[in-house]
Amino acid sequence: MAKISYRVPIVEMQGDEMTRILWDWIKEILLEPYVDLKCEFYDLGLPMRDKTDDGVTAEAAAAIEKYGVGVKCATITPNAQRVEEYGLKKMWLSPNGTIRAYLDGTVFREPVLCDAIRPYIPSWTSPIVIARHAYGDVYKNSEIRVDGAACARLEVAYADGTVRKEKIADFAGAGVVQGIHNTDASIENFARSCFTYALDVKRDLWFATKDTISKTYDRRFKEIFAHMYECEYKDKFAAAGITYEYSLIDDSVARIVRSNGGMIWALKNYDGDVMSDMVATAFGSLAMMTSVLVSPKGAYEYEAAHGTVTRHYYRYRAGEITSTNPIATVFAWTGALRKRGEKDGVPALCAFADRLESACKATVNGGFITGDLKSLFVADGITPTVLDSRAFLQKIAERL
Ligand code: NAP
Ligand code: MG
Repeated sequence: MAKISYRVPIVEMQGDEMTRILWDWIKEILLEPYVDLKCEFYDLGLPMRDKTDDGVTAEAAAAIEKYGVGVKCATITPNAQRVEEYGLKKMWLSPNGTIRAYLDGTVFREPVLCDAIRPYIPSWTSPIVIARHAYGDVYKNSEIRVDGAACARLEVAYADGTVRKEKIADFAGAGVVQGIHNTDASIENFARSCFTYALDVKRDLWFATKDTISKTYDRRFKEIFAHMYECEYKDKFAAAGITYEYSLIDDSVARIVRSNGGMIWALKNYDGDVMSDMVATAFGSLAMMTSVLVSPKGAYEYEAAHGTVTRHYYRYRAGEITSTNPIATVFAWTGALRKRGEKDGVPALCAFADRLESACKATVNGGFITGDLKSLFVADGITPTVLDSRAFLQKIAERL
């Protein structure tokens, strides 16, 4: 059988630790036998980031913008312990943060559902995709500890000298104050990524804030979404048979729990942080959560939502065989291959991605799993077999 080929490269970003090992095995066992992979390769493993003063991350981000499709392995975000472990020149920033800032993109997280892995909320039969705004609010705040009686004010000083002040509170005693912000430009990019992605994957879009309480701040988010929808997306959504709706965050949470899933749930930065962990946990395993960064210009970067699985890597390095789940990383590859196929008109590539995803699910449903899925597995008459990572990939290849 001839291998499937395509013309425009995919930006391939290699990473760290256990996922770096899985990465090569996935290519060897599931991709290279069937696809003539054309990739522009960037090694984002920590040693190379250190060697290039993190230049390699910036180059990879530029390449994603240029080619429109990237696939990334999980990478270490260094902390003090890692600086020592790897003898780093510096505590380099998170590569994901660098790439996200460069592309000004929005991250969509989606669980991989298998019939034999039951979500904690049984009515969730379709994935809930979380879109988290990634700029501002409490993540870029200013905070002051108030020591005693004081008056706290908000002050905005315009370039022309005009000043606008608003009282926050009169303190009779000690307390705390926090200042947060966001920008129309960032909210617009977020909204555009959400509308684009909803059309892309043909799912309803839900957006929620607390605009009844936050009558200026959260209301601005609501207005920007509503305006963009009315002016640019209403007809496109109708043509695609999908809907956009806004609701209050508390109402939205209640309705999500009662729903069957299937929607994109767009949330402000903090809400998205909290709700994505809730949704990931309720669907089962972190190892089954995929993630895609979508830029407002239409570039896509796919990856697993989990990290480098350090604990497994230390065991692997000590010579043990581990049962690390490769599914989210395989789905990062299928996402990238399918998107390349869609963008360039290579249906064979899209069909391959579909078949590989089905093979992964069928393998799990057939009772061949990795260790993390053992306690979540429920299928009548099947006692699951826990395989190590390589044997699991080979089982998927048999199905494929
Ligand atoms: P992690 O790598 O996601 O792993 C946390 C734990 O979750 C693992 O120890 C394992 O539990 C379980 N797990 C996660 N993925 C799994 C998989 N594919 N198969 C089986 N079990 C899996 O998070 P972490 O240990 O907090 O972070 C490790 C490194 O990853 C850090 O250096 C961090 O900076 C980095 N990180 C990178 C990204 C990214 O690049 N997107 C995201 C998050 C973290 P058990 O040990 O109980 O089996
Ligand atoms: Mg979080």
